[in-house]
Amino acid sequence: MKIICIGRNYAEHVRELKSTVPSEPVFFCKPDTALLIRNRPFFIPDFTQELHYEVEIVVKINKLGKNISEKFAHTYYEEIGVGIDFTARDLQRNCIEKGLPWEMSKGFDYSAVINKFLKKEELGDLQNINFRLEQNGKVVQQGNSRNMIFSIDKLISYVSKFMTLKTGDYLFTGTPVGVGPVAINDKLEAFLGEQSLLKCTVK
Ligand code: MG
Repeated sequence: MKIICIGRNYAEHVRELKSTVPSEPVFFCKPDTALLIRNRPFFIPDFTQELHYEVEIVVKINKLGKNISEKFAHTYYEEIGVGIDFTARDLQRNCIEKGLPWEMSKGFDYSAVINKFLKKEELGDLQNINFRLEQNGKVVQQGNSRNMIFSIDKLISYVSKFMTLKTGDYLFTGTPVGVGPVAINDKLEAFLGEQSLLKCTVK
């Protein structure tokens, strides 16, 4: 199983990171050891002083596929959830400045938080899914899938040109504006539509 993450997929988030809007999707992978499941707590690792949350719509791949056309991409997933792409922002900035790979800042243990998923039918129009993250009961990030620069189907098609997608893979589809730091004892809760799908206490 692999975790594929999309970067820079919401224009306002691109601006907040002072980055540039891509003409093709930007993606990277996290190893399977990055998964954090079942609402387990997250322990801030000691190698970062600036641990950020990024809430994202997550798609669960349910079929083997390579070179998937955008037209058929919707047949490669049945379930959608929300996840947190934990990021060691200080390390990531350093990697970007030096032109180095940024795995250490993105792929560390338990940096990919997921929990419950919903069937597509429950969500209605997939181009209009609201999602949000609350930090200690206060909304810190809000997004809607309509504001993705590249749609879920486009992402699946694009990524599958380079990497075979397999059943059980996860696709994190990018974070909207509002990323920010977490602190010990923070309680994070992520929603898809009005449904709470994920909770995570920071330790
Ligand atoms: Mg992200």
